[in-house]
Amino acid sequence: MASHRSPGGQAPSPALKDALDGAVIRVRGQHRIAPPSSALRGRVVVAAVAAGAFAAAAAGQTLKAANSTDSDTTVKPLANAQDASASFTLGSASSGGAPELLPAGHSMNAADEAAKMADSAKITEAREKADAEAARKAAEEAARPKTCMPAHGTFTSGFGARWGASHLGIDIANSIGSPIYAASDGTVIDAGPAHGFGLWVRIQLDDGTIQVYGHMNSFSVSEGQKVKCGEQIAEIGQRGQSTGPHLHFEVWQNGSKKIDPRPWLAARGVDV
Ligand SMILES: [Zn+2]
Repeated sequence: MASHRSPGGQAPSPALKDALDGAVIRVRGQHRIAPPSSALRGRVVVAAVAAGAFAAAAAGQTLKAANSTDSDTTVKPLANAQDASASFTLGSASSGGAPELLPAGHSMNAADEAAKMADSAKITEAREKADAEAARKAAEEAARPKTCMPAHGTFTSGFGARWGASHLGIDIANSIGSPIYAASDGTVIDAGPAHGFGLWVRIQLDDGTIQVYGHMNSFSVSEGQKVKCGEQIAEIGQRGQSTGPHLHFEVWQNGSKKIDPRPWLAARGVDV
């Protein structure tokens, strides 16, 4: 290390420097010096810094190269300050062996990131599917009728006075076993025997309206069950006070006032 120390400590004149540079180039050409390894460059730089001022050290090395016939391979890197500087940076960074490990670390992170992105893509895809499904259901729900025909058949009797008594609903005649549907969304509040009706089912709507279905042959819902418009709840029969198989259907406004079901249904798009 002592032999690399600058003999004078002062920078060479421009003319001398030019001459020195030329000498270094010749040294390179004549001796075909192989480029030193990074480790060697690092050691050289550390040596130069340890020796004192970097510029003075570089000048000293150059002087030595110019004056010496010995092709010391440590001369070459320091003849080019920029190269030495780059070596210094590398040497400094490699003190912990980091430069070789960093790319590997990035690769591992990249793999992790790729896995995360794949997971993220899956999550996004699943969420998009769920959103699409929810949108489809919402559209289906919006398109679903809110009022439905309670039974298909022949309209045989309207609301009002009949045979000297009040008939508080409408009758739709059809064969025994024909389906009876919930005319609206609602909750079953009764399903079973009822005086005069034989069997009945009562459904209460969210707005408090109650619908009564009577004389059925059988029913397939139970108290507390939520039903939807158009869902089959029973079969037409002729139980109770009935002259033939038909559905007797009532609408109780606000859960108590018996009103004519026909205009109520018509106002909601269902013509009986
Ligand atoms: Zn009736």
